[in-house]
Amino acid sequence: MNIIAIVDVAYLVAAILFISGLKQLTSPATARRGNQLAAVGMLIAVVATLFVKDILTPAEMLGGLVLGTGIGVLLAKRVEMTGMPELVAAFNGFGGIASALVAGAEISRLIADGEPLGAASAVTIALSVLIGMITFTGSFVAFGKLSGRINGNPISFPGMRFITVLAAAAAIGAAVWMALESGAFPAQPDGVIDGALAVTIAAFALGILLVIPIGGADMPVVVALLNSYSGLAASATGFVLDNTALIVSGALVGASGLILTNIMCVAMNRSLLNVLVGGFGGDSATAIEGTKSMEGKTATSTSADDTAILLAYAEKVIVVPGYGMAVAQAQHAVREMGDELEKRGVTVKYAIHPVAGRMPGHMNVLLAEANVSYDLLFEMDDINGEFDTCDVAIVIGANDVVNPSARHDKSSPIYGMPILNVDKARTSIVLKRSMRPGYAGVQNELFFNHNNRMLFGDAKASITAVVNELKAMD
Ligand code: NDP
Repeated sequence: MNIIAIVDVAYLVAAILFISGLKQLTSPATARRGNQLAAVGMLIAVVATLFVKDILTPAEMLGGLVLGTGIGVLLAKRVEMTGMPELVAAFNGFGGIASALVAGAEISRLIADGEPLGAASAVTIALSVLIGMITFTGSFVAFGKLSGRINGNPISFPGMRFITVLAAAAAIGAAVWMALESGAFPAQPDGVIDGALAVTIAAFALGILLVIPIGGADMPVVVALLNSYSGLAASATGFVLDNTALIVSGALVGASGLILTNIMCVAMNRSLLNVLVGGFGGDSATAIEGTKSMEGKTATSTSADDTAILLAYAEKVIVVPGYGMAVAQAQHAVREMGDELEKRGVTVKYAIHPVAGRMPGHMNVLLAEANVSYDLLFEMDDINGEFDTCDVAIVIGANDVVNPSARHDKSSPIYGMPILNVDKARTSIVLKRSMRPGYAGVQNELFFNHNNRMLFGDAKASITAVVNELKAMD
């Protein structure tokens, strides 16, 4: 078997590993294994490419592997769960710039080797630079907004839409220019080089212009969309380099990113267009102070002791985690509470809303980290029918995803978003620090229901106090 055939087989194995890895990512029980499979696939693809192109010596490859693994492990260990969306945004940005740089490098290689560039290849290179650069600057704006380094409010200025359209037209015009000039390449490469530079500058501006008007609340959706763009950029680069592994992996990232974006939009009952131009949510949304009464009804607070008694004598308890559980890092205490209740014969289930927290799967990851059994986690549609038969629904730092106004208040920004039916439980207890609203900036009707109690305080401290009370009851 010649070396090319070996590399083709390696790429095929890598593609199979990517696809089966993705499949396994669809369930929390197999997600870790799926991640490992895809990582092994990528390792095989990278090593095969470096061998066939004779790019690095084995010693250099080992050095790169050790360095890259070291940085990856350090980042993974240091990043807080709440910082995950911004880390993903940064990864997407690096993916985008890598695609743009590789496409640029291909132009200089062709010039150095005196090889021609067809019109189709010129357009592919332009696409790779265009999508790569938009992904790069757009992702770093998203990173800045998520990490608080850039104002999370939608940012706009007079004439912004016009400038955005102008930048898009310039990028397309420059790509056409590159295709027209490709005939004279490589004898007269200046037209193609100038076109590529123009695409780079226009795409750099476009990435910023497209993301700054989007509110902080929608950044996770934007990150999923940019993730898809980074895949498309990689796929375009795969065509530039005629590299099957890059085409396949880029297409998989592009498609799964788009599917994820769609799932998030459906879960929030918003169209992608509304997310991109809606300017929904931002820093100011979370700054609104909540009130203790609403339409003549007053929120009633409770204590850890009373909560423990209520839980201990319940037959069925549904735990509803939200973003506050991530902030408080309360997942281990929550598992301990579940264990204590199960010891008493209480049936405990966990209800997972698809957009609880700040990224898809946020709650699953946290509860898995705390070793909560997967069998106890239920998706919204599977558990919503059970709230009216449960004695206590305990809400750990969730807000928007349990707000009944989403069902009927047409003026609410979350109107139409499917919610967890916590208000149907016999008693609901909401753990949070204050009456402040959640990310959408709207007050929650649930808090004022006659059968709801507020347990104020940091979620981890509150749950720990409840667990101590439960243990003291033994
Ligand atoms: P919310 O943001 O609606 O509410 C979180 C609540 O947690 C706040 O009201 C806050 O109240 C409370 N909280 C914060 N810190 C603590 C703490 N240390 N202890 C106790 N409570 C705390 O979260 P949800 O999970 O209910 O909803 C997610 C929101 O994010 C939705 O609007 C969703 O559309 C949006 N979103 C989610 C995405 C995803 O992929 N998951 C993507 C895009 C948007 P207080 O300050 O009073 O403590």
